[in-house]
Amino acid sequence: MAVNIEGKVVVITGASSGIGEATARLLAQKGAHVVLGARRTDRLEALVSAIRAEGGSARYRALDVTKREDVEAFVNFAQSEFGKVDIVINNAGVMPISPLEALKVNEWNQMIDVNVRGMLHGIAAGLPVMKKQGFGQFINVSSTAGHAVHPTGAVYSGTKFAVMAISEGLRQENDNIRVTVISPGLTKSELDDTISDPALAEGMRVSRKNAIGADAIARAIAFAVEQPADVNVSEIIMQPTASPY
Ligand code: NDP
Repeated sequence: MAVNIEGKVVVITGASSGIGEATARLLAQKGAHVVLGARRTDRLEALVSAIRAEGGSARYRALDVTKREDVEAFVNFAQSEFGKVDIVINNAGVMPISPLEALKVNEWNQMIDVNVRGMLHGIAAGLPVMKKQGFGQFINVSSTAGHAVHPTGAVYSGTKFAVMAISEGLRQENDNIRVTVISPGLTKSELDDTISDPALAEGMRVSRKNAIGADAIARAIAFAVEQPADVNVSEIIMQPTASPY
């Protein structure tokens, strides 16, 4: 159990794999009540069972972050189960990278819908609750791709730059709500499954040779959570030691 984490109600989008799953496990181990959302409910059900088997507190609900009403119902579910919402972790994301000239417009739209609109839906659902409570914390997952652009990553980077900009505005507008951006570099997860171009997917697989575990990002998130209420961890960038990305 951990001071400033124990008893907190933490809503996590994209909790069915990778960083979201690792964060759910770690915060539950530290005594948080975790409420998990994603589309693959079989994964969420198994994760909730595993957390409960270790003595943790967890719930799940089917969630598509591209639908505002889904995200609102998800946050309301957490509030009705536990009476408050301390933290919304906007983590759900997709990364179907491709060169712009391939004109994969549907994939561009998917990245905008999940990575940007999904986060905005989390803010729209969580902000009124936190304003009413007088406290709360958003943790928005950006990327090192939110700091630099590389070929094939233009739209993905655009969405992650947007996460940075919107989070910074949210932080500046609210003096009793904490806003943290987490910017991982190469991290082991299922993110590459969203890449439709086989050559680019293979290239990412090779680049991820030295990727860090999702548990490392979970520890960064726990650090941002466990600071006292008057301390806002504005951003953490965490990368593999043995990789430029
Ligand atoms: P994963 O693919 O393992 O996890 C992505 C999660 O997002 C899954 O749980 C998936 O669940 C969920 N998701 C996708 N679309 C939706 C949707 N429409 N509604 C709800 N949930 C959705 O990858 P990561 O853990 O790596 O990704 C987590 C975040 O970290 C993303 O924002 C990603 O951009 C970011 N990131 C990752 C890096 C890395 O190297 N891995 C580096 C930098 C940033 P489901 O399919 O069940 O809905």
